[in-house]
Amino acid sequence: MSVMSRGKATKPIELRRCVVCRQVRHKSELLRVVKTADGNISIDGATKTFGRGAYVCKSQACAAVLKKRHGFDKTFKTKLPAEFYDAICAAVDAAV
Ligand SMILES: [Zn+2]
Repeated sequence: MSVMSRGKATKPIELRRCVVCRQVRHKSELLRVVKTADGNISIDGATKTFGRGAYVCKSQACAAVLKKRHGFDKTFKTKLPAEFYDAICAAVDAAV
């Protein structure tokens, strides 16, 4: 009965937009940052944490611009410390 029995072609394509360059990419190419219900904002390596997510390319160029502009402050309506952006850059460095 299951249409999933062959395990392909039935999954939705998960596309997300980078907050820096506005390009739409597959979420595997993006780093997810998530704000949970308790207001904690963290880098979500597993991309499974429930909450409000925002994405940046796993690209050193986008990470550098994000850090310079504090690009997630606006997204999450909060002031994130420079260390948080350093951590994003480090995570992107590790991913590329
Ligand atoms: Zn980007």
